[in-house]
Amino acid sequence: MTNHYPFENTPLPYAYDALEPYIDEQTMHLHHDRHLQTYIDNLNKALEDRPALQRMTLEQLIIISGKLPEPIGTPISRNAGGVYNHRFYFNQLSPSGLRQPVGVLAGAIDDGFGGFTQFREKLTAAALEVFGSGYAWLVSDKRGRLSITTTANQETPLPRGQCPLLNIDVWEHAYYLKHYNKRADYITDWYNVVSWGQVSDRYIACISQRRQ
Ligand code: MN
Repeated sequence: MTNHYPFENTPLPYAYDALEPYIDEQTMHLHHDRHLQTYIDNLNKALEDRPALQRMTLEQLIIISGKLPEPIGTPISRNAGGVYNHRFYFNQLSPSGLRQPVGVLAGAIDDGFGGFTQFREKLTAAALEVFGSGYAWLVSDKRGRLSITTTANQETPLPRGQCPLLNIDVWEHAYYLKHYNKRADYITDWYNVVSWGQVSDRYIACISQRRQ
């Protein structure tokens, strides 16, 4: 996956219809091929005359964007965030695989939330409470302690120093064609396609970074 300018829209790691019946094929086409593509195109456009920024990774651009002057800071922040959040969202989903956490991550979820059921309740509540467009996240701090947070629009948890493990996109474009205005139904369906193996891998990577 290209992680610097010019950014490219890499294919989904599964077929567009692979997440049926929970997330429909048409939504996946529009979400990946049009919404994500637009963030990629606009990010490349914002960077085309900025050679000093063209060598930076997506994560570096997100972190530095808050310190860039306008009119460059805002488009880089929004579009780099849009690319990061969508790649994150698509890559953690899978038509098969672990459907609940195991190992070190399962232990951390028990410690942080009292169990997987309680974790789900808390993440669902956070996702429902996002006003307008944004994301709910499971994140880890530098010590490996877990928490749930939300971000508005295409903001990410990275500038807060949090290590993202899982996100749910609650922009209406993520669910409106199938679930109409029923965000709660989309969230319930979304749990059926989360790949907890991916989430575990991310958690282990977060903990390893801390030790370096
Ligand atoms: Mn989206």
